[in-house]
Amino acid sequence: MKYFDFNATSPLSSVAEEVWISSNQEYWQNPSGPYIGSARAKNRLEGLREQMASILETKTENIIFNSGATEGNNTLINYCAKNSKSDARILISNIEHPSVIKAAEVTFGRKVDFIPVSAAGVIETPNLLPLIKNGNYSLISVMAANNETGIIQPWREILEMCNENNIPYHCDASQWIGKLPPKNLGKCDFLTGCGHKFGGPKGVGFLKISECFANFKSFYGGEQESGHRGGTENLPAIAAMIAALEGKLLNSEIIKANQELWKNEFLDILLNEVPGVKIIGKGVNQLWNTASIILPKHDNIRWVMRLDKLGFAISTGSACASGREGPSHVLKAMGYTFDEIKRTVRISGGSDTSRKAWHELGEAFKRVWKDLNMRSSSLNKARIISI
Ligand code: PLP
Repeated sequence: MKYFDFNATSPLSSVAEEVWISSNQEYWQNPSGPYIGSARAKNRLEGLREQMASILETKTENIIFNSGATEGNNTLINYCAKNSKSDARILISNIEHPSVIKAAEVTFGRKVDFIPVSAAGVIETPNLLPLIKNGNYSLISVMAANNETGIIQPWREILEMCNENNIPYHCDASQWIGKLPPKNLGKCDFLTGCGHKFGGPKGVGFLKISECFANFKSFYGGEQESGHRGGTENLPAIAAMIAALEGKLLNSEIIKANQELWKNEFLDILLNEVPGVKIIGKGVNQLWNTASIILPKHDNIRWVMRLDKLGFAISTGSACASGREGPSHVLKAMGYTFDEIKRTVRISGGSDTSRKAWHELGEAFKRVWKDLNMRSSSLNKARIISI
């Protein structure tokens, strides 16, 4: 199987697997226990926190380990709702992950404002400034890169605007971390991410807070994570997540250059072989691994199933948007029609995806295009005969 759905999840990297196994053997004891084995686990946990803090260029006390980005997004929005004045509002982009949008709607009710994106899928910061200046916001949340389109958002500018206007800024960097250098992300007041998008285990992630939110509390009933989050820490998974991340940061420049080149070669095959294909995100900054494509004909699910039969795993959108939640809110926000959204597929490679695999995917699209067209023309003929 050639896997092209890394934005949904990634396989455990070999270094993460090794670290996960050895941590389970060496550090399986509860870091909160009163004996030597626990003290060793606690030491290891704090060492990991230092490593994570150093990657994000922040202080160790700002790092909270948790179960992933859904938990991070939900708990921090809930915290902001509970700790703001009753008339305070939240400002979020209309292309955020559902774990931000739904959490905002549930906890802030009608006090949610949305920042629109342009037709190119990017937040236009000049439109944002008056909102920031005049709104009564207890939090602004804009992601670093979108999971469905891979389109990169101007989070650095938004961070600066928020700092200048004294409004806390949250960045969901789940799709950025492990693909692009994390420089300056640690300056966001809140930052969320998860291990399984970059070769770490599933069910582990982190929330970075800043000093002024030192009273942040998410789960009750345990004083783990310096009282920020109750629940026994999943040390082997935390260790494996950080090992995976450090691995990804090593050759990130070369990976980006190669993968971008090979992805573009794949897109050229597609443009040549499947007339009428439209590429979403052309001309704007996009993650090196992601391609979002509107096919000229046939529902996306038919393409996905045909490609699956040929040994290629691609997606119709985000893991959350595919099949279960109706048409993608991200593509809708960019102004695409329902008919176009139904014909859109997402392809997301990994750092180890080979040039050969990208080319083979292009050839597979060509084959599926021929098959689907042949099938629909023979169905049409059958219909004419039966009339
Ligand atoms: N935020 C973004 C941008 C994502 O892409 C995802 C995963 O699909 C999440 C949040 C949720 O992450 P997790 O699976 O760790 O809960």
